[in-house]
Amino acid sequence: MIDSHRREINYLRVSITDRCNLRCEYCMPKEGVSVLGHEDILRYEEILRVVKASMKIGIVKVRVTGGEPLIRRGVVEFIRELCSLGLKDAGLTTNGILLEDFAGPLFNAGLRRINISLDSLDPEKYGKITRGGDISRVIRGIRTAHDAGFFPIKINFVVLKGFNEDEILPFVRLTLDKPFQVRFIELMPVGRNARLNEARYLSNDSVMDTISREYTMHPLDARGAADGPAYLFKIDGAAGEIGFIHSGSGHICERCNRLRLTADGHLRACLLREGETDIKSALRAGCSDAELEKMIRTAIDRKPAGRPCIEKKPSIKKCGKEMSAIGG
Ligand code: SAM
Ligand code: SF4
Repeated sequence: MIDSHRREINYLRVSITDRCNLRCEYCMPKEGVSVLGHEDILRYEEILRVVKASMKIGIVKVRVTGGEPLIRRGVVEFIRELCSLGLKDAGLTTNGILLEDFAGPLFNAGLRRINISLDSLDPEKYGKITRGGDISRVIRGIRTAHDAGFFPIKINFVVLKGFNEDEILPFVRLTLDKPFQVRFIELMPVGRNARLNEARYLSNDSVMDTISREYTMHPLDARGAADGPAYLFKIDGAAGEIGFIHSGSGHICERCNRLRLTADGHLRACLLREGETDIKSALRAGCSDAELEKMIRTAIDRKPAGRPCIEKKPSIKKCGKEMSAIGG
């Protein structure tokens, strides 16, 4: 499926819950968000129906996210069904808090690709940014996932000025002897924390400068078609890779290959644009497969060329939905 700006759309991110067991400062307000009721959340069978319809029009990659996906009951069985659909790539993004218990069952359910969010290696700093998270659980989760055979294991590191810039090199070093892909993600001004996030924004150009002063990075040009907006590099002799996602500085839109399904059953063509297509109501009103496919095509056609919220700063407040509700 090629959108109206000639991008191939082959990646669907699915948020299966807006709830979370952490409260990361840049993602959620301290008091949390008002969570959706049981009936407002898409049922697993409804999500699978949307995935199947999306596959018919070219989606080959699906990533399950949230909120925190591992807190939704039945997630392992859902992943098993998702993995049996014949996607080229099925993955999950988690904060890793529950991963020690879930890694084995998820691997047995057929999942191989996992992204784990970790913004500090320092227990105190981790506790601060997540408002109470216990890093030892995440570290055990990563180890268990590695031992279970997950590959690739990607570690998402959101760069925050004045908070974790000093950990850029320690995170790069994680790739030297382990086959992890550490991804440096630029902070985005989303939700109620938009203004605060603007103040903490640090560009990936500056991250790359920091790394280049210490290491030689080689670009990896053998990119998979569904690799999306990450720019990948490797340090000489390293087992793993480093990736840069220029989500805050606007270089990703021309490579954007994704569509999002929110936990409340809306298709969202752009993370930073409010327009959504209400798939849940259509599903519950008994729409046919052909109608469903048409709605997905229309949502893809609505993808904007660029970033409406970041380019026009005064409209930043319009990016009102929280990241935890959209799924990252
Ligand atoms: N709870 C899971 C987790 O943290 O991995 C999955 C959902 S979380 C919304 C998905 C990703 O979005 C995480 O890697 C998180 O760090 C990232 N994220 C959240 N808010 C962000 C923001 N304002 N800018 C950039 N990335 C953000
Ligand atoms: Fe929860 Fe993930 Fe948002 Fe942190 S980034 S509050 S773990 S949804």
